[in-house]
Amino acid sequence: MRILMVASECFPLIKTGGLADVVGALPLALGKEGADVTVFLPGFPAVLKGLSGKKTIKEITSLAGGPAKLISGKTDRGLSVIALDSPHLFSFDGNPYQTKTGEDRPDNAIKFAAFSKLAADLATGKLGPKAFNILHAHDWQAGLAPVYLNLAEANVKSVLTIHNLAFQGLFPYSILPKIGIADRHYTNDGLEYWDQVSFLKGGIIYSDHTTTVSPSYALEIQSDAGGMGFGGLLKSRQQSLSGILNGIDLEVWNPETDPAIAASFSATSPNGKAKNKTALQKKMGLRVSGSTPLFCVISRLTTQKGLDILGDLTDHIVLSGGQLALLGSGDSAIENKFRDAAKKHPTEVAVQIGYDEPLAHLIQAGSDAIFIPSRFEPCGLTQLCAMRYGTVPIAGRVGGLNDTIIDASPAALAKSAATGLLFYDITAHNLSATIDRAFSLYKTPKTWSEIRQNCLSHPVGWRRSAKAYLDLYADLLEI
Ligand code: ADP
Repeated sequence: MRILMVASECFPLIKTGGLADVVGALPLALGKEGADVTVFLPGFPAVLKGLSGKKTIKEITSLAGGPAKLISGKTDRGLSVIALDSPHLFSFDGNPYQTKTGEDRPDNAIKFAAFSKLAADLATGKLGPKAFNILHAHDWQAGLAPVYLNLAEANVKSVLTIHNLAFQGLFPYSILPKIGIADRHYTNDGLEYWDQVSFLKGGIIYSDHTTTVSPSYALEIQSDAGGMGFGGLLKSRQQSLSGILNGIDLEVWNPETDPAIAASFSATSPNGKAKNKTALQKKMGLRVSGSTPLFCVISRLTTQKGLDILGDLTDHIVLSGGQLALLGSGDSAIENKFRDAAKKHPTEVAVQIGYDEPLAHLIQAGSDAIFIPSRFEPCGLTQLCAMRYGTVPIAGRVGGLNDTIIDASPAALAKSAATGLLFYDITAHNLSATIDRAFSLYKTPKTWSEIRQNCLSHPVGWRRSAKAYLDLYADLLEI
């Protein structure tokens, strides 16, 4: 089975969030199950630089007002990639979608439409290499690929995966003639969404099947409350909508071999975790103490992630005898709340604003617990990385957090099954009560180490979900 994955990010080449992790890991997991997968990416400088064995497989004289080439190559993990090298569209560094000042790049619609059109042409075999059986598009950036494929009436099945419904790829109506889509598709059951064009809606409607990244999120997005305007549409398509949980790459996140951490550890030999705690406290300028509960955050600092609320509870954490190590960036008001907390409690709260992959690994290895108080969370990968590193997630009971964490309820504790703490209704009061619950569990070392042990042995890889995707592809192809 030949599968073309189409996405704008792929770890380790280019990443702004969980999408990249999934596109970097799922194809490798599918490959292990026998599928033949190629990832199609925009040729950002970092993507072209990160590929080895590059070959030009097709030259295109004109694509959206400039030349383009398709370049094939491999990542250092052996993943097959085709990159769209088109300097007038993708030759810039930094965030792929936004300028330095946080505005959407003005040519987003043109460049991702051109990218999606070529994805459809690649899938059908129109551009030379052999055709694919499945085109699997991810998020709004690739949302038009199933549209172009459908309009070409090609014999290729398409899947769209929604990683976060908040990002809908909305553009003015005037874009349509520039991206080669006829007016007749600008309807309520086509690409029109409240007088705008939505690339994501196009992908949902024109793909053969839509998935999202957890079963709970697949249900939430069919409601008015969780559907972000798409609830009715998604409910009407529930027969071709399903949730398949994300996993993480067990080689990238491996506490036995991770070069970014201070001491290795594992489920069968967890002692090295204490050394990582000391190393983390030293590195981030926190008071060194093995017995102080060390909480962490590794996240985009946004209201989606509930971190506005956590920002108001730093005094509570410190006064209750805990420490906080935070790595992230995002809304300036939230950044400032945490910066102020670090100034107020310099030995107990450490804040690093920015993106830092190795530090994220050390924080996961050295912390006792991680906050993910999300208001909504399609899947969430941070809690999976945390569990792999024996760090107990404290999270909102939503989406994929609900599907991957077992709350330390009396019943779960009695069965030795708990892997974290979950709470409903993301309010300061409820988060504060959950923090208190964490302190009280931490005070009983036997209970805390049992929860940590459950985390360390919880399966968080891709194997099961890769099989679920293969079953879906096979159903679509009727094989
Ligand atoms: P998102 O909604 O941002 O995609 P996920 O939990 O699905 O959230 O994935 C986020 C990924 O990005 C995780 O691998 C997490 O460790 C990583 N991450 C988030 N913020 C940072 C940061 N500031 N530095 C390093 N890694 C980060």
